Amino acid sequence: MRKLDTKTIVVASHNAGKIQEIRDLIGPLGFTAKSAADLNFIEPDETGTTFEENAAIKALASANASGLPALSDDSGLVIDALGGDPGVYTANWAETADGTRDFAMAMQKVETALEKAGATAPESRTARFVSVLCLAWPDGHTELFRGEVEGTVVWPPRGTQGFGYDPVFQPKGYETTFGEMSAEQKHGWKPGDEQALSHRARAFKIFVETCLEA
Ligand code: IMP
Repeated sequence: MRKLDTKTIVVASHNAGKIQEIRDLIGPLGFTAKSAADLNFIEPDETGTTFEENAAIKALASANASGLPALSDDSGLVIDALGGDPGVYTANWAETADGTRDFAMAMQKVETALEKAGATAPESRTARFVSVLCLAWPDGHTELFRGEVEGTVVWPPRGTQGFGYDPVFQPKGYETTFGEMSAEQKHGWKPGDEQALSHRARAFKIFVETCLEA
């Protein structure tokens, strides 16, 4: 397992919501980070079929382009009643004809698919958010960290915080959706905290424990 020996990294993402959450997590650890979006890097095609493959594609692209270690996130919503869909294609379900992303439409698509599958009772709408973070170095070395959070898909969407599918995801044991939670509640975590809630914060905790702590 390779340790990270610099505090200057690239956040290998063009997704504003993810970049903000990763900045919230790395900020208190003293990192200076530009994102792939800030640096005008081209978004690589996500040609993998797993979160791990796509996370590595993104992190390696930014590490190669910058000459710095790069941290990416590949994530998605895995819904049991839909056989794991949208899964690695979670972002694609939000794509519109003009190439932009519409998450109100994407959440409606999920709801329509769940109704078609007869999944209307809360117990048949179980799902998990998955995040795989990849730290890649310019020499091609990669380390992968996976975080997951169990929950259910609710309808209608609730809350305006966060991003993407947050308004329809209610984590297990909570009465509120990610969309109704503060940033601190959803993904707040710092070294020493026993648990993080969100998939991304859980993956980040493993990254810190693996690559930063002695
Ligand atoms: P990708 O990792 O770029 O392929 O995209 C993952 C997609 O999953 C994002 O565009 C979001 O729509 C969704 N997603 C991932 N993490 C979250 C989250 O924390 N909240 C809401 N949606 C998320």
